[in-house]
Amino acid sequence: MDFSDFRKFVLRVGYPIHCVHCEGLDLSIEEPKHHPSYEITTKCNLNCVYCYSKVAVLNKTAPKPGYYGDLNPKAITISQYGEPLLAGVDRVAKIIERLRERFGDARIDLQTNGTIDFTDLDGLINIAMISLDTSNAESYEVITGSNKFNDVINNIEKAVDMDCTVTVRSVFLPGINDEELVKLAEMLGEMGVDEHFVQPCSVYNECLKDLQKLGFDLEKSESLYDYLRIVYRCSEFVETVIPGCIKVILDEILKQLGDFNDLKFVRRSAIARKPPKIRRDWKFVIE
Ligand code: SF4
Repeated sequence: MDFSDFRKFVLRVGYPIHCVHCEGLDLSIEEPKHHPSYEITTKCNLNCVYCYSKVAVLNKTAPKPGYYGDLNPKAITISQYGEPLLAGVDRVAKIIERLRERFGDARIDLQTNGTIDFTDLDGLINIAMISLDTSNAESYEVITGSNKFNDVINNIEKAVDMDCTVTVRSVFLPGINDEELVKLAEMLGEMGVDEHFVQPCSVYNECLKDLQKLGFDLEKSESLYDYLRIVYRCSEFVETVIPGCIKVILDEILKQLGDFNDLKFVRRSAIARKPPKIRRDWKFVIE
């Protein structure tokens, strides 16, 4: 790895279009909230080893269906919890149409695990954010408990032909998917996806043992440097971005570091302190 190129990359790395309009970009807000969201279901057809949504279900902090947020949204996520397309693509289309009637041209970001074909939403969504953490079916099964890897790849390929930004979202699980993320980036570049959004893992206590059984390296997951090195390697193949709320903090850290090499000593806390809970108020449900 060329260290000077790595430094240049870290200074200019961007965040995904999804983060635009999020309070997380504004460091003056003490407790920033995620975008407004429309929650459809907390059910999921996968069982990802690190999933915050299943932790929320366990802790009874998962949201009931409906719209959460203020009534003049700039962007709405569908959904933060569960797999929305399990409700049926027609049902999701109807919800989006009703949200559009009410909120005009607010950006609609579909967040999905990509196992279900959503091409019928072409023209209705602005961003398709598809989760995928690995480059092959074997480790996909280890991480998600499912054999749907090829379905996800097919659905990413179909999404690339839709009229929306395609963002593939991957969680960096050091010790589990390091090299696979780089291989995945190569595949995504070839498929023509718009962005590869690589996130560090937030570890909930409920998931820690299962993660460690798979070889998860907690210490490495707390190193900002190790995370950025993987992001940099992925960027060789595809536009690779980091969470906006991390980008703004990274910029502050870099201003304060006398020497870029000291980034090696910066740690993040990987352990999530509270059970996941939606932080916006419930407003209404679409029947
Ligand atoms: S990653 Fe951070 S900045 Fe981006 S939408 Fe989520 S909370 Fe907001």
